[in-house]
Amino acid sequence: MTAFILALGLLLAASTGWAAKRDKDLYLSAKKEYDLLRKGNSASGNSRRWEAVAERFQKIPQEFPRSAYADGALFYAGKSYRELYSVNRKERALDLAIKNWRALLSRYPNSPLAKEARYFLALSYEEGKGDVAEARKQYQALIEKFPRGDWPAKAKKRLKAMQEAEEEKKAPPSLSDGQPAKALLSQVRYTSSQSYTRITMDLSSEIRFETHVLKEEPSKGLPPRIYVDLLGARLGMDGAQPIVVQDRLLRQVRVAQFNPDIVRVVLDMSSLNGHNAFLLPDPYRLVIDIQGQRDREQFAALEKKRDLLPPRKTVKPPLPGLRRIVLDPGHGGKDPGAIGVKGATEKEIVLSVAKKLAKKLKAEMGIEVVLTRRDDSFIPLEDRTAIANAEDADLFISLHVNAAQNAAARGIETYYLDNTSDEASVRMAARENGTSRKSISDLQFILSDLTQNSKLEDSISLAHRLHTSVVSHMGQRYGPVKDLGIKKALFYVLVGARMPSVLVEMFFITNKTEGRELTRSAYQDALVDALFDGIKKYQETTQVVKNL
Ligand SMILES: [Zn+2]
Repeated sequence: MTAFILALGLLLAASTGWAAKRDKDLYLSAKKEYDLLRKGNSASGNSRRWEAVAERFQKIPQEFPRSAYADGALFYAGKSYRELYSVNRKERALDLAIKNWRALLSRYPNSPLAKEARYFLALSYEEGKGDVAEARKQYQALIEKFPRGDWPAKAKKRLKAMQEAEEEKKAPPSLSDGQPAKALLSQVRYTSSQSYTRITMDLSSEIRFETHVLKEEPSKGLPPRIYVDLLGARLGMDGAQPIVVQDRLLRQVRVAQFNPDIVRVVLDMSSLNGHNAFLLPDPYRLVIDIQGQRDREQFAALEKKRDLLPPRKTVKPPLPGLRRIVLDPGHGGKDPGAIGVKGATEKEIVLSVAKKLAKKLKAEMGIEVVLTRRDDSFIPLEDRTAIANAEDADLFISLHVNAAQNAAARGIETYYLDNTSDEASVRMAARENGTSRKSISDLQFILSDLTQNSKLEDSISLAHRLHTSVVSHMGQRYGPVKDLGIKKALFYVLVGARMPSVLVEMFFITNKTEGRELTRSAYQDALVDALFDGIKKYQETTQVVKNL
């Protein structure tokens, strides 16, 4: 979308005048309403508001057929009618979505949004209309016209799934007939480093799973193993060859259809260590973290050193200072995060703050800082903690700015991971996780046992240091800061992190004053100073405590 907006900006700069400004205003204000409705709050079920915003988009190309926003307006008119359809389930809404996307494709075939529009057009035929032939035709047209990119790749997946559904209909009846469709395991990926390995399994839907540990069996030549049974699952990938990893922890991964209902994933380990498994939604993936022996090894090394020293001298352990911090600027790429006044995006603001903070931490505290992204790229949530774990970081700090429907909302709030039942926190988590509220409640049970052995106390302490520092620093420089408090919430980006980890929502991009300030360099610098001081205080207090 960024390229698309940039291109529009250039076109607009070339054409001036009242008309050019008016179509832009109409488009941007409709887009703002659309984004608000999309955010998964109570208004997202409001069919009248969806219809109104769809009509607003639809009018733009009628009134300004040569506007640079015409294709975008048709695209979002289609998307809004599709949302309306998902609320009211009326055929007319779906027909209007199709009509707008068709208009976009015929009038602006070279629009950057053509791929996405064609995909959703096909999907509407497939899922809404149940017109398999037309859906297939549209998916194929997309792939033929644009062989590369995300949307054609998705179209290929849909075509494959449709093909499989056809074949299953033809297949002789089996025991599983009449039972819910099985989850498909389509891919196994891994991230590996010296003391940490993460395996991620891509699934087509939610599953139940069981993990088991098997000891080494030298007589049979078998290494220690961890195996995971995916219940009610089907193998959707080639399992003939093992996936060779060969890092310090994991030799290889084998997958097989163990029986008609179970896919078994076997991890052949180099040595047996702790492991942690959890399921993430949208799309579903099962993550298994394998922990190395870093702590134990370091402890042993320290003990050994102590033995070599002359006796009767007490040896102090090294200061537990911060060596390495992972800063996680939220969102990025196709996910802009919250959008605020004058079209400012969360992803840009948090990236800028993260880069400045990284520079300062390095220069003034000598801390190594790893950013989960250095540019405008999309990083899946589970990859962000995988980076922190693989880098063996001491802290993980996820940076965000807040958004609310109420333009008066302002202030700062800081979160640490917990399995919460607080409604507001769950709503917030839904937005930041890019998922629906329902799938969060479905997943609470999966995560509940994870939160207990996390670095909860240190996370709370870090949250306090950062939070109070921002409130006092920014308050001194820019007037009173609304303190929205330190809260627990269920953020997937924090799940599975092996170090103290927090998420900071730094002011509201949707508030006129705060939204404007957030884009200013001096304000960002002040924010960086405040965060820096919070980290410094955290380091000082934890050192004092650990040296007692
Ligand atoms: Zn965010």
